[in-house]
Amino acid sequence: MSDPARLPAAEPPARTDFIRNIVREDLASGRHGHINTRFPPEPNGYLHLGHAKSICLNFGIAAEFGGHCNLRFDDTNPEKEDLEYVEAIKEDVRWLGFAWHELRHASDYFEVLYLAAEQLIRDGQAFVCDLSAEEVRQYRGSLTEPGRESPYRKRSVEENLDLFRRMRAGEFADGARTLRAKIDMTSGNINLRDPALYRIKKVSHQATGDAWPIYPMYDYAHALSDAIEGITHSLCTLEFEDHRPLYDWCVDQVRLHERPELLKPLTDRGLPFEAAKPRQIEFSRLNLNYTVMSKRKLLALVNDKLIAGWDDPRMPTLQGIRRRGVPPEALHLLAERVGISKQNSVIDFSVFEGCIREVLDAKAERRMAVIDPVKVTITNLPENHRESLAFSNHPKDESKGQREVPFSDALWIEREDFMETPVKGFHRLVPGGEVRLRGAGILRCDEVIKNGDAIVELRCTLDPESRPGMEGANRKVKGTIHWVCAHAGVDAEIRLYDRLFAVENPDSEDDGKSYRDQLNPESIRIVKGVVEPAAAGLARESAVQFERLGYFATDRHDHKPERPVFNRVVALRDSWAAKGA
Ligand code: ATP
Ligand code: MG
Repeated sequence: MSDPARLPAAEPPARTDFIRNIVREDLASGRHGHINTRFPPEPNGYLHLGHAKSICLNFGIAAEFGGHCNLRFDDTNPEKEDLEYVEAIKEDVRWLGFAWHELRHASDYFEVLYLAAEQLIRDGQAFVCDLSAEEVRQYRGSLTEPGRESPYRKRSVEENLDLFRRMRAGEFADGARTLRAKIDMTSGNINLRDPALYRIKKVSHQATGDAWPIYPMYDYAHALSDAIEGITHSLCTLEFEDHRPLYDWCVDQVRLHERPELLKPLTDRGLPFEAAKPRQIEFSRLNLNYTVMSKRKLLALVNDKLIAGWDDPRMPTLQGIRRRGVPPEALHLLAERVGISKQNSVIDFSVFEGCIREVLDAKAERRMAVIDPVKVTITNLPENHRESLAFSNHPKDESKGQREVPFSDALWIEREDFMETPVKGFHRLVPGGEVRLRGAGILRCDEVIKNGDAIVELRCTLDPESRPGMEGANRKVKGTIHWVCAHAGVDAEIRLYDRLFAVENPDSEDDGKSYRDQLNPESIRIVKGVVEPAAAGLARESAVQFERLGYFATDRHDHKPERPVFNRVVALRDSWAAKGA
């Protein structure tokens, strides 16, 4: 019996979802001694929030079960792919805090995939087809009608091999021929009606240049890449469920794990491999309202200049989210919260914002900033009075220490914290009334200086008995407001971001409106503000809570201590729920 006192204390409860349960069973039964997963993006765009779910799942499982996770670029579609995306994807995965075991590309395996295709031809499992794309469509049948066999299906092995080699040698025009699997034209699953394995495409590839005039199809390349890398659990989203029989067909017909000779091009290059028979398991995608998440649609927003670029802080791309100031831990928390299942659902955007608030509440130091300033002069302090007040950086975490906040006879406060003719229930500063200046004492407004209708200055007195450490410091007044010293405060650009779309489902093309017409006109507002010196001096990509205003982060590119730029990550409270949107 184990002694409970000796169990590790802070072991988090083991996560259970249907995939982790399968992994546990496979380890317990000895089916696998070691778990290998992969995250397989196509480098045809930037990663988005949905990908973060897949990354957290694949890398998470490898970490929890002591296995490996590869980062593999599924680069079989050269026209749409670019090295720019490859680099950004690597940066995003690292930013999320994960380290891949091996960095691979489907294109690393082109030679193996080619040899395996020749093997399929020799085994009578694949043939070269001369039907045009249009004819293939006609022969394919439909959901209710079986397909018809291609007239080229009965070609001899020799002829198929000869034609396939000539496809590879570049003898034929794009689209003139395909290599197709010989499966079943009457299958109820259209994916099994003699699907294409290779197509001719004389396009240069971002990794292999002009070496290949033919490219493998996604299903074939994906299944075999998994097998080559010894992936035990190939986790993908539900839309691939109907492709699973084809995935299994490719793995079972080629039997890479039993045919080391096919892997020779890799061993010759010194690439380590442990071919295995992988199993595909599907889970539901992450869908969020108030956003769009397909790479194609995000690309259109960028190309049409509806937003500033891939890393616009309103974008659901990981680059955008990072620039906004969202900490990677918030994405881990979101992945944990939405969980893994086979049920498709749409997660409310507020769930994501809640994760951000939860992480930043614990992590972000507090600072003061005023974004719509009005001047306060404290007339009972000597002119040019300067002092420094000690503020704790975090109300719930002493380990974050303290900072000095400059205070003087001239301050900025928020314009909306003063009302000349107060409405009922307004508990902040009013003529003749009192309010607490956070950490500095109790302020009374004696005089309002105006220029026409505009308030330009509030002349006030500070109750000396209410100063920090004095006996009257705890005297009760109703409101507390924040402030910034007008002498020491630093002018800052403050970018107030909000949700990119004004409607819950920008994708629904009801009313004939496309998602492009549904952008939230208030999703960005740039204002000038003033921040305390200890905020201005932060490094880029530092998150803070500006007291009473929200969570902000210094901009990853534009922030400089002498010219601070802050992005609003998220407001302190959800204002969308109240809108009843
Ligand atoms: P998109 O449809 O947005 O263009 P994709 O599925 O084509 O995305 P890939 O690069 O092929 O993008 O995806 C890499 C991996 O991320 C795949 O395993 C895919 O299933 C997964 N993935 C993509 N979108 C989501 C999502 N919304 N939720 C969870 N996983 C996702
Ligand atoms: Mg895709």
